[in-house]
Amino acid sequence: MRWGLIGASTIAEQHMIAALRDCGETPAIVQSATLGRAREFAAKHAIPDATDNIAQILSDPSISAVYISSTNEKHFSQAMESISAGKHVICEKPLAMRLEDAKAMVIAAEKSNLCFATNHHLRCSGSHRKIREIIRSGAVGKVLSVRIHHAVHLPETLRGWRINNPAAGGGVIADITVHDADVARFLLEEDPTSVVAHSTASGMGQGVEDSCMSIWDFPSGAMVFAHESFTHPFAGSGLEVHGTKGSVFAQGVMTQQPVGKITFTSERGVEEVSFSAHNLYRQAVADFLSAVRGDGTPAATGWDGVKSLAIALSVQEAAQTGKRTPVNYGAI
Ligand code: NDP
Repeated sequence: MRWGLIGASTIAEQHMIAALRDCGETPAIVQSATLGRAREFAAKHAIPDATDNIAQILSDPSISAVYISSTNEKHFSQAMESISAGKHVICEKPLAMRLEDAKAMVIAAEKSNLCFATNHHLRCSGSHRKIREIIRSGAVGKVLSVRIHHAVHLPETLRGWRINNPAAGGGVIADITVHDADVARFLLEEDPTSVVAHSTASGMGQGVEDSCMSIWDFPSGAMVFAHESFTHPFAGSGLEVHGTKGSVFAQGVMTQQPVGKITFTSERGVEEVSFSAHNLYRQAVADFLSAVRGDGTPAATGWDGVKSLAIALSVQEAAQTGKRTPVNYGAI
């Protein structure tokens, strides 16, 4: 398919253009709010066309799908316009600023029989898929708790709207907690019911939080602890799943790269677990293309994006009020 890129972004530049091409797809045109920037981005990435007008992409019948990676406040209107124009959509997380908007996008795509995916890359990794396999196999027993360590050091080049612009969807909760919410749902295959949270600005955030710790309750009784930050140079990332029969320790797996180390500890001792080292974003595109062909669903569907957003918004509310907050999924 020929694709329109909506947003001349870092994630498109560093991961998604290559992922599309690796899957045999064609990034045909890129849109930026500034024509000069669109042209520069197109030239740098050998994309044949550039525009500052999304209508040029959407009115082109040869474009079948769009990848939306603009700042968060733009996703809603750009997705709705794309769906109205009959394009399949991969949309970046968080899907929107408001839950109602995210739901409207997903419902509109369903009504138009279009494929809509949320770009939650972590569930596409070999490591996370292997951990879910271990949980499903029963080896862990009943899951008691999950600990997600996702406190990173935001690269200098990304210290723009993320750390100082709440209107564009800045803040670590919209940026990273939303991914962790998807990870917890993916691994446990259930949705949290309530959260408590604390957030702060610890050196980078200006008018937005740059660090957050929260605890989520799941219907099975499992508790999830999640820690996200932009300000931790040396913390590393990790994921632990603790059950009645065993514990999974995964180091360095909350990342965009197919890296990390997994061990499984049980009565038998400590065993190293191998997993596929495929590219996460290529897998996301491959799963999306299968779904477009009618085979399965995208790795993370639109409804997965709605739910991860609902959890992130509840974490935000809980951090602001200091109160235990039910997760409001609305009527899904
Ligand atoms: P960027 O800051 O790189 O780009 C976002 C927008 O900001 C661009 O579309 C562009 O607007 C504008 N912009 C960027 N750089 C410049 C510049 N030098 N001068 C002027 N404008 C600029 O964002 P990210 O790639 O980090 O994030 C984009 C989206 O992707 C977000 O929704 C984010 O949450 C998501 N994301 C997802 C990841 C994942 O793994 N799934 C990882 C990282 C981000 P314009 O196009 O109008 O020029």
